[in-house]
Amino acid sequence: MKCDPTLYRGAPPSLAVKPRLLRHLLLPPLILLLTIGLGYTGYRISEHFGIRSLSENGERQLELHARTVESELGKYTYLPSLLELESSVSSLLADPTAQNRDSVNQYLEGLNRRSRSRAIYVLDTTGRVVATSNWRDADSYLGEDLSFRAYFQDAVRGHQGRFYGIGSTSGEPGYYLAHGLEQQGKIIGVAVIKVRLEALEERWQRARLEAYVSDENGIIILSSDPNLRLKSVRPLTAQTKERLARSLQYYWWPLNELQPLEREQLAEGVETVTFATHSDVPSDDKKISYLAQTRNLNDTPWDITLLTPLQDLRREAANQGMLVAVVFALLAFLLIAWNERRKVIATRLAAREALQEANNQLERKITDRTTHLRASNERLKAQIRERRHAEDTLRRAQDELVQAGKLAAIGQMSTSIAHELNQPLAALRTLSGNAVRFLQRGDLKVAADNLTTINDLVDRMGRITANLRSFARRGDDQGQASLSKAVEATLQLLAARLEASCVEVHRDFSDAQLTIDQTRLEQILVNLIGNALDAMHVETASPQLWLEGELRDGKYQLSVRDNGPGIDPQSRKHLFEPFFTTKPGEQGLGLGLTLSASLAAAAGGSLNVEFPDAGGVAFVLLLPLVQPVKAEPI
Ligand code: ADP
Repeated sequence: MKCDPTLYRGAPPSLAVKPRLLRHLLLPPLILLLTIGLGYTGYRISEHFGIRSLSENGERQLELHARTVESELGKYTYLPSLLELESSVSSLLADPTAQNRDSVNQYLEGLNRRSRSRAIYVLDTTGRVVATSNWRDADSYLGEDLSFRAYFQDAVRGHQGRFYGIGSTSGEPGYYLAHGLEQQGKIIGVAVIKVRLEALEERWQRARLEAYVSDENGIIILSSDPNLRLKSVRPLTAQTKERLARSLQYYWWPLNELQPLEREQLAEGVETVTFATHSDVPSDDKKISYLAQTRNLNDTPWDITLLTPLQDLRREAANQGMLVAVVFALLAFLLIAWNERRKVIATRLAAREALQEANNQLERKITDRTTHLRASNERLKAQIRERRHAEDTLRRAQDELVQAGKLAAIGQMSTSIAHELNQPLAALRTLSGNAVRFLQRGDLKVAADNLTTINDLVDRMGRITANLRSFARRGDDQGQASLSKAVEATLQLLAARLEASCVEVHRDFSDAQLTIDQTRLEQILVNLIGNALDAMHVETASPQLWLEGELRDGKYQLSVRDNGPGIDPQSRKHLFEPFFTTKPGEQGLGLGLTLSASLAAAAGGSLNVEFPDAGGVAFVLLLPLVQPVKAEPI
């Protein structure tokens, strides 16, 4: 049974493998890219929300600290204006005597002590210090010309003088608040208070707050980090730098720019800035990022900036990003594993279905084939029955033919048999008559000899009739035959003709036991030898008959050869055809060779004819041995 090969054959490799290979090659980098992308997105989202949260928190902190700075500055706002009310101050300005100066110096000294400010001093309208709280100190401002100071210039014009600067005498930074002292609508002098704001810085440092305050020039005047102090938060033009240098506001400080490595504006007053870390600060990273939130301080041109470090937030965001990436990678891995498993199951199911289908097909084909075989079997059985029937018919016909052949042979032989029997009968008649006469004469001896001869003749006649009877008997397919007995019986049967034709018989064969019925073997030999006798009867001068046997392929072969006239080529091909005869009148029936060949075939042997070069004809009878043993020659 053939199976359909396409059931199990996959698609051509060039079509099936390529996209799969491509997928397998592309998938890992794709997953890697997605993992990195999602990790980065997770990082950015986490950072965004973290910054928002930090920003909200920073907003509150900024507000709180801005208020603190404002209140710290506000404390001193009205102090210089209070000096307007002090008569000794106005007296000094009107009349700058030593006595008046002493009295104002002492007054200012006391006031400064109580207000905990750095210094309080009074300038005349030319900008010269006429009285000061630090009049006792070596670096006292007394007599100094501070007309170049912006706070003086503002105050003398009636504006509020606010100013952060580095003292030209002490070199000490401070917040200067100046007020123009008026008398009857005219400015007669300027009162100045210098406040130190280091306390704010110390407070920020204690609270671990990173913040700075930048003034109207963008210069950091207060900072929790001393390194940032007096640095510019925005670029300064050369012109501005020159102006500031000339004003000595920041003394001779270089006013370097605070240069962030990166800066990103997030909203109004909110930005992220990245600075390079100072080399003396031990850090894994060389950069440090801050969220910078800036707000204006009320009643001042100053800004306060709160710096919130972003390292922790970024570390947290990086962790979140990593988590997202790991979760995605895990999910992708699980998905791939699940998909692979699904494919394996699908393949198995498909294979099982294909197998089931093939099985079903096989079963269907087996059923069909079985039905077909059963029908063929039935047909064969019917044919066998028919053949058996035909065989039976044939065998019966064959038997009939054999019998007919025998009877024909007997008919053929009847003349010679009659001759054979008449001769002894005539002899018997003569001998019996003579015997009577010799008995009457009393010649007993001769009479006895005659009677003995009569007895022999009767025996001979009995043998002739016995042979005829056994020849006429029906045989069967089964049985065994002795070759020599069969030859003897045949020669006996044909003895009269052999004698009449003066045929010389040559015997050269073994007493083989052959698997053929004895009678049938005799029948064959009678036909073959009888034909030879017929052929040699007319023209052959010295008729000879050779009976030669030999073993051939486990069978026994007997050749019946004569030196008769042979057979003309025309007749040769018709020899074994039924009713082919060359014999005149009723002498031949044309059944002898046909029957003999069919009897030999029925016994598992064969009968063939050969034409020896020396002349005559040789009929070759081949028959199976009962036991394939080498027979002894007789
Ligand atoms: P029948 O003897 O009745 O003619 P057979 O079948 O026995 O039928 O023989 C057929 C013919 O074969 C014979 O008529 C004869 O012509 C030929 N034939 C048989 N044997 C010999 C032989 N030994 N020599 C010559 N011719 C033979």
